[in-house]
Parts: sequence; C-alpha cells; structure tokens
Amino acid sequence: MMDIKRAINSYNTTFGVEFHPKAVLFDMDGVLYDSMPRHAIAWQKSMAQFGIHMTAHDVYATEGARGFDTVKMLVKRQKGTDISDEKAKAMYEVKSNIFHAMPEAPIFDGVKELMQRITDAGLSVNVVTGSAQKPLIARLTHDFGQWLAPDHITTAYDVDRGKPDPDPYLTGLRRAGGLKPWQGIVVENAPLGIHAGVAAGCFTIAVNSGPLPDSDLLVEKPNLLYQKMTELLGDWERIIGS
Ligand code: MG
Repeated sequence: MMDIKRAINSYNTTFGVEFHPKAVLFDMDGVLYDSMPRHAIAWQKSMAQFGIHMTAHDVYATEGARGFDTVKMLVKRQKGTDISDEKAKAMYEVKSNIFHAMPEAPIFDGVKELMQRITDAGLSVNVVTGSAQKPLIARLTHDFGQWLAPDHITTAYDVDRGKPDPDPYLTGLRRAGGLKPWQGIVVENAPLGIHAGVAAGCFTIAVNSGPLPDSDLLVEKPNLLYQKMTELLGDWERIIGS
C-alpha cells in the first residue's frame, strides 16, 4: 500500500500536478492480448525473406513503435540504406499477413475484470496502439465493446510520430475527452511505450508480460511495475482510490 501512495506522491512531485484519473489508456499487444510471442515469430519469418535478421530481443525492444518505422530502422542498421515509407510498408505487410495466418492470441487474465472496474469507477477505457493492423483493431471492439467506445481507440493511422514519442498518448487523452496528462493512467508492457507514456506526462504503469528483464522497463521510469494484469487488478482500487 505504501508503494502505491509513494508512487503517486512521486508522480505529483515530478510533474508538479495532482493525479486525478478519469481515463485508462491501455496499450494493446502484450497488455490486453498475449500476442507478443506470435508477433516475434511473424517478425522473424517476414524479415528473413528480405535478408534481415531479427532476434526475439529485437522484437521486444522495438515493440510499440509503428511497424514500418521498425522495418526502416532494421534496414538502415543491417544494410546501411534508407528505404521509402512505401517500401517499408510493403515489407511490414508481409509480417502482418504471417501474423494473421496464426491462431488468435488470447486475452490476458484479468483484463475484462479490470475494464469492468474502471467503468464502475466512472473512468473511461481507451486503447493506444502502434499497430496498424485493421483486423486486430476490429477485434478490439468485438472483444471489449462493452467497455471500449470505437472513438476511444488510437492507432498508428492517427499519429505522425509513433511511440516512443508522446504523440500517441497525447492523442489518446484528446480522444478520451480532452483530458490533461494527470487525468490519464497509461498501462504498457514495452520500453518504448513506457517512454511514450512518461513523455506524455501520464501516470504510467508497466506490466512486464514478456521476456525482457524488469531493468529494461524500469530504466524508462514507470510509476509502478507489475508482472501480470491480475496483479494490477488486485491493486486497482488502491491506485484510483488513494
Ligand atoms: Mg505492447
């Protein structure tokens, strides 16, 4: 209990604000869906077709960035050349196609219960994802439509600069009803996404659902860190009630 109080006090002091949450902004992959292992396979298989080697660590370390930005970075790093957005988008399309041919990723335990409690507490549920995959976005409204309004979803299509820039979360706050950063809680699993949430000035909760060490997430200075969504669910009332 002390840790949560301390985390909120520290947030208020750091940003010179008073935490007063009205919305939760969830990342999608690795937070709502246990989809990252499938993404890792799809990334590795697709990039291999273009002579690009990608480790599982590369996949997790670049998670949250817009897909075609990751492609451009990999080509630059391994081939030393700059490619056009169009070329990168075509390569990312190969990755998307492999991903969608795989079985659907399960929803993490605790997610739906958490959305219900968020709604019960009078806060809104929002999703902010670097994904530009239309089928997954349609799946969001199918799976979570009870709590999540379609206009509370922000995707790679909606911003010029993806995570780690703050733009996706700032856009998410705007869509949540023109909220200020201290009125939003960001929930993220990836270093670039945590960076984006903190850069937007939001109280940022990390959930380390993947294989990266906690230190890779903590270096981005999240306000709280959990290992599972069910642990976050267990602390939920204390986070918003304090
Ligand atoms: Mg994620």
